Amino acid sequence: MASPEEAPRSIEFLEPSTLLIEWGDDHESLYSYRYLREKCECAGCVDEWSRKPLLDPSTLPANLSIVEVEKTGRYGLNLHFSDGHKTGIYTFRALRRNCPCPECVDQNFSDPDSNEPRSPATSGEGAS
Ligand SMILES: [Zn+2]
Ligand SMILES: [Zn+2]
Repeated sequence: MASPEEAPRSIEFLEPSTLLIEWGDDHESLYSYRYLREKCECAGCVDEWSRKPLLDPSTLPANLSIVEVEKTGRYGLNLHFSDGHKTGIYTFRALRRNCPCPECVDQNFSDPDSNEPRSPATSGEGAS
């Protein structure tokens, strides 16, 4: 079961070039089409092995738009962009994690899961 914060209540397209998702916990996320395109994690945009971005955002057209949206089951969206790119699957979980509002950006920075646990034992080498 998806938790409320990962289950969209409504998905709307706003002018200009903005996708609005209202989540089950009343949070609202606004994404520009360009932002979503840059966040694409398909094999054509991110190297599957190194996770390095293969997409150069400067090559994207300025007037990039979304021409079609398909729901992929209950867990995500497949966005078709006007530059012909349509292999990107955006899971609701990833969309929520990438919410660009200041509140979420703050939270992501302080997310304890994203920090490697530091072991004090490794600093012993070389100390006298
Ligand atoms: Zn892609
Ligand atoms: Zn947010």
